[in-house]
Amino acid sequence: MSAPVSIDILKQHLIDPEICIRCNTCEETCPIDAITHDANNYVVKADVCNGCMACVPPCPTGAIDNWRTVRREDAYAIDAQFTWDVLPEERALPVSEAGSDTVPVVAGETDKAIPVPGPATDTVRGSIVPPWSAAKPYVNLYTHKAPTRATVVGNYRLTDATTDSAIHHIVLDFGATPFPVLEGQSIGILPPGATADGRVHHARQYSIASPRDGERPGYNNVSLTVKRVLQDHAGNPTAGVCSNYLCDLKKGDVVSVIGPFGGTFLMPNHPNSHLLMICTGTGSAPMRAMTEYRRRRRLKGATGKLMLFFGARTKEELPYFGPLTNLPKDFIDTNLAFSRTPKQPKRYVQDAMRERAPDVAQLLKDDNTHIYVCGLKGMEDGVLQALKEIAEAQGMPWDPLWERLRMEGRLHLETY
Ligand code: FAD
Repeated sequence: MSAPVSIDILKQHLIDPEICIRCNTCEETCPIDAITHDANNYVVKADVCNGCMACVPPCPTGAIDNWRTVRREDAYAIDAQFTWDVLPEERALPVSEAGSDTVPVVAGETDKAIPVPGPATDTVRGSIVPPWSAAKPYVNLYTHKAPTRATVVGNYRLTDATTDSAIHHIVLDFGATPFPVLEGQSIGILPPGATADGRVHHARQYSIASPRDGERPGYNNVSLTVKRVLQDHAGNPTAGVCSNYLCDLKKGDVVSVIGPFGGTFLMPNHPNSHLLMICTGTGSAPMRAMTEYRRRRRLKGATGKLMLFFGARTKEELPYFGPLTNLPKDFIDTNLAFSRTPKQPKRYVQDAMRERAPDVAQLLKDDNTHIYVCGLKGMEDGVLQALKEIAEAQGMPWDPLWERLRMEGRLHLETY
């Protein structure tokens, strides 16, 4: 009998293009840069991925958790993955080539011994678990294959007509269709039409700006805070597909919705919890949802505090400016920062945080404090740096505090 032929088997990690909402969470989370994307798909490089699973829990949809057993030499290349609309079927392996022996496949990777690193917490900056007292979220009730529909019952511009930043408040009603949400969750919108090469548009994700009991209490509706994208990140003119579609909707129009998404960026339910909220622009959506939930349920004797740092270029570009400044001072401690007010020095959220350092430090010392950061990608570094400086000035070494906040579901980052 001839000796078994050794073949190199790979449990290849793949992302389901039908479910993926292109939120970039996996690419950000991967500690070894095994995930990349083009305009079409997010994909995993087979020769780099080591199956450490760091990207799996944070994925809001579960699109990330797909695997195919292949011969290493037949692994799907990223160029092929970029073209996929659906995942390939599992292929039968030519086991006979390995003689009568069973082909060995080590879960997550390969038959070769590969050192699997420990939890990738050194690159995951925020919590991947919810606050201990968060309510149970429902996720993925509606998918690309089976979306639901919602009717537009309101759409108005929040930002001043004199600015070129158009941010809209859009209210979607689900009628009799169940769509349970929690503050901090998001939904996916499927814009109609197709890309220039004929593919259906992928879903875009939007944070929910209303509390769990509805934009209007007792109604089965949610609100969104949507910025009309008229320039790409480099400042070149463009017309964002979904944001323009949403901002142009009229009352009575019907949209296709998937979700809800998100099982970690959730608010604590215990009334003595403190919320330290830091946001820019449309990152205010989840903060509005949480603030409004707490405002509707102000419990007698509860000691939980709300502190908000909110940045925009100018007062006129700050969504919800009016209602926000009308909230009672003993309910929420609001700090605004404007970076482009004429004749004023630039002021960012992290500057406002430093000015309030003693009060922020007080919150950092308290195990009931939960921190939420949402908005422009560029804000994350500055905010984390400010938190570090504020903590360390009060004798709290940042690294162990940061680790504890992450592990206890008390530091949530959502930037895009
Ligand atoms: P596309 O057609 O996808 O893009 C057009 C061009 O604009 C591309 O070059 C793209 O790179 C660039 N671009 C994309 N987004 C922006 C931007 N914001 N600024 C400048 N250039 C951009 N958006 C909201 O308005 N409100 C929200 O509450 C919100 N929540 C989000 C939550 C999460 C977790 C994530 C991942 C994203 C969220 N977004 C939110 C962003 C949203 O999903 C879309 O990316 C955004 O509306 C642009 O989509 P589009 O189809 O209009 O643009």
